Amino acid sequence: MVRNVIVGCGISGAVTARILAEQFGESSLLIDARPHIGGNCYDFYDHNHICIHKYGAHIFHTDLRRVWEYLSRFTQWYPYMHKVLGFIDGQFVPIPFNLNSIRMTFPEFLARRLEEKLVIRFGFGSRISIQELRKSEEKDLVFLANHIYTKVFLGYTQKQWGVTPDKLDPAVLERVPVYVSRDDRYFRNRWQGIPRHGYTAMIASMLEHPRITVKTDTSWNDVKEEFRGSDVRIFYTGPVDELLDWRFGELPYRSVRQDFHEFDREFFQPAAVVNYPENHDFTRISEYKYFLADQASRTVVSFEYPSAWKRGENEPAYPVAGEDSHRLHRQYVEAAREEYGHIHFLGRLGDYRYYDMDKAVARIQKAIGDGETIAVFGDYDVDGITSTVLLMDYLKSCGAKCLRYIPRRIEDGYGLSKPAIQSLRDQGATLMITVDCGITGNEEVDFAGSLGLDVVVTDHHECKESLPNAVAVVDPHRP
Ligand code: UDP
Repeated sequence: MVRNVIVGCGISGAVTARILAEQFGESSLLIDARPHIGGNCYDFYDHNHICIHKYGAHIFHTDLRRVWEYLSRFTQWYPYMHKVLGFIDGQFVPIPFNLNSIRMTFPEFLARRLEEKLVIRFGFGSRISIQELRKSEEKDLVFLANHIYTKVFLGYTQKQWGVTPDKLDPAVLERVPVYVSRDDRYFRNRWQGIPRHGYTAMIASMLEHPRITVKTDTSWNDVKEEFRGSDVRIFYTGPVDELLDWRFGELPYRSVRQDFHEFDREFFQPAAVVNYPENHDFTRISEYKYFLADQASRTVVSFEYPSAWKRGENEPAYPVAGEDSHRLHRQYVEAAREEYGHIHFLGRLGDYRYYDMDKAVARIQKAIGDGETIAVFGDYDVDGITSTVLLMDYLKSCGAKCLRYIPRRIEDGYGLSKPAIQSLRDQGATLMITVDCGITGNEEVDFAGSLGLDVVVTDHHECKESLPNAVAVVDPHRP
């Protein structure tokens, strides 16, 4: 009998199967209800020989060498750097909004003034969230923030999520910051690209292993009776509410529809993706021949229409973050564990969250590489002390310079405190990693930022309404 059943044949499922096969010598059955592998990354060559991403454009980007090198075993890469234009007030401007966008949008004298103020206030090369820019006290920067908010974020977010940006989890908007630079690329990650022969080919190569069996056109419902009560481990990458037949109600998702069009001309638009925050009901148009520089006399684009997910009508694509939805998600996960025993949830739908782990790792790697002093801020109870010791031990083994701080129970109390942060900064720390605390320390994290001390929060406590403004927030409860 097979050792693992993996439900969903996208990147998460395929990587899991390969690791189980290679590193643990375990066999897996991978199933997918769709007639193909690849999950939402599925792509195929059409009759024009253009590689089409059936479920919308996917651009691979990461700061983690390990991830890049792992995937590079299964594909070569086309070194595509993603650029997005926004169609705003009748012209195409770079998104994320940056100094070039400012030049294209405003009269020259005003553009110069705004650029100067941005550079002085935030520093050349910095990235700022729109929420942060909106908090500016300087009149010109408030004007700029309102312009970007209204023209770039408001309409797009209403279409994409059905709510105004202030109702959205701030982490979603932070994915598209404002750049104080002339770099027009959408992502700043060190490694970016598109698999040279497409995502489907990369995933197919990952699945080529004698311990991996793939069955498409097969849903979990088709096989579940076979495995109920057995010792098989289940890795589930689909929506957990569906797994349990929506017994506690539906989790909220957004869905997207891609309307494909083919045109008898070489190019349709000036970049691979053009966003339409202000016009039309679609959010963006993707033109597929850009991604692998496919040579064809015709071109294929898709118009992306977001909508609420409705069971039986469309497919869930994005989990909607929020306190209620995360509570409901946890309830489902616990019930699923009771019912199926060894079940793990993976991927954007299965895990129902965006992750921050890559940001945390990238910042810590940079600190180690640059010889920065890293402070570990712990807690006085058993998990707080253990995690401080483990992390210190690990950082030291990587050659990092580090300090630790464990608050005193009576004198200091629980959590981050400004005097302790000040003292760590005075001792030369430029990065602070919290363990077992920090998730509610919004004010203290801002204070650390004002001293030039970056913060990575790792915690397992419940979050407040808003997350701390840290470089990364790693917490299983985070929205
Ligand atoms: N966003 C926006 N205007 C844009 C681009 C993005 O308002 O021109 C907001 C929108 O709320 C979106 C979020 O930023 O959902 C994240 O954008 P991203 O491009 O990362 O979305 P994805 O590619 O995951 O759909």
